[in-house]
Amino acid sequence: MRVLLVLFFVAAVLAPAVLMAQGDDAISRLLRQSQGNLPAAPPRPVPPPGPGPVIGAKPKGPLPIVMSARIGEHNDRTRLVIELSDPVNLRTFALANPDRVVIDMPDVLWRLGAPPRPSGFGAIKSYRYGQFRAGNSRMVIDLNQPVTVSDSLVIPPSSGFGYRVVIDLFPTTRPKFDGNAGWPADLRKRETDAERLAAMIAAQQTSPARAAGKKIIVLDPGHGGIDSGTVGVNGLMEKDLALAEGLILARVLRGRGYSVFLTRENDTFVPHRQRVAIARTHKADLFISLHADSHPDPSTTGLSIYTLSDGRSDREAAALARRENQSDVIAGVDLSGSNNPVAPILIDLAQRDTVNKSSRFATTAIKQLSGVTDILARRPHRSASLAVLTAPDVPAVLMELGYLSNSDDARQMNTAAWRARVAEGIADAVDAQFATK
Ligand SMILES: [Zn+2]
Repeated sequence: MRVLLVLFFVAAVLAPAVLMAQGDDAISRLLRQSQGNLPAAPPRPVPPPGPGPVIGAKPKGPLPIVMSARIGEHNDRTRLVIELSDPVNLRTFALANPDRVVIDMPDVLWRLGAPPRPSGFGAIKSYRYGQFRAGNSRMVIDLNQPVTVSDSLVIPPSSGFGYRVVIDLFPTTRPKFDGNAGWPADLRKRETDAERLAAMIAAQQTSPARAAGKKIIVLDPGHGGIDSGTVGVNGLMEKDLALAEGLILARVLRGRGYSVFLTRENDTFVPHRQRVAIARTHKADLFISLHADSHPDPSTTGLSIYTLSDGRSDREAAALARRENQSDVIAGVDLSGSNNPVAPILIDLAQRDTVNKSSRFATTAIKQLSGVTDILARRPHRSASLAVLTAPDVPAVLMELGYLSNSDDARQMNTAAWRARVAEGIADAVDAQFATK
């Protein structure tokens, strides 16, 4: 899904690379300056590059707007110029394996009309941007080569342009890059705090539901914020589809007497580890992760369901797991803990029973949904090493609702009527799962 996303993005959305350093406006001139002769930022009113955003902070007044981003590629450096309506606190750091540069900032509105496309000649391979957490927007740059990152320089408004942030990436050696790369320690603590808070909220929400004897379902709309997932031939983004389906499914299930929680209820990024933690804290009876797939063959259509395997999956399922597990890498999450998506998943004995329950639900759901929408023609129930399904005590499935690379699938997934029909079908399968025995 990931490779296709980049291809779609590059092919459909982005402006030609040649536009990047042409023109004679103030930003073009900045981009062409390859030596260190930039105008110095005055001490005020521009804030110096600060400690970065505060997680969960409520923005005061209207959000700053990111109005443009441009790339200048030189032999000795790659320069990124980001134009903003207001000065913001930025923080940059590098992450290795894969090599990335992360630019953290407070909540902003992204209004990049035609984001520039790197040519491949410079240090920037590709990049993405969006919300990372409440109070924290982020740009993540994939690198072609090891770099050192300059301090970000902020230039105050002039010549019809807003605040311009200049960041230079200088080629460096592998050992130097690896020596500097890594999550800043205070950010790691911030992430741990954010996870702990999410778990605490989940625990508080669950107890009344548990006391009422209701079955607890956790719905997990896939991707979000900075990670759009795949993008449809009609422009429909996987993250938006997954959220829309999750919200309608929550309503239907609550109407049938279930206690339902969502891992996200808006367009924000949630790391895999946190999605799993939310399912475990709720002691969910069932976890349903909602996604949409893409395929190089545009004629591939239909819904498919994945359950967890310990790595012995077929090639297509393994490729899907790589794409879906990539989400944390895409968003620039700290993977130094146990959350390495590349590590093989070990299923212990206790988990076998959970995996069996998951498989039973997958089989039922495919039967129920075959009357509602197209089902993938060949083996619609597969298993793969999916990071989001690894709670050992929670039966869990990942549904690929259809193919955004297929025009019929993409069109129907973009309708509320289809999403409501599918929600009823999934709810029928949930009823069936808990009705017997
Ligand atoms: Zn996905």
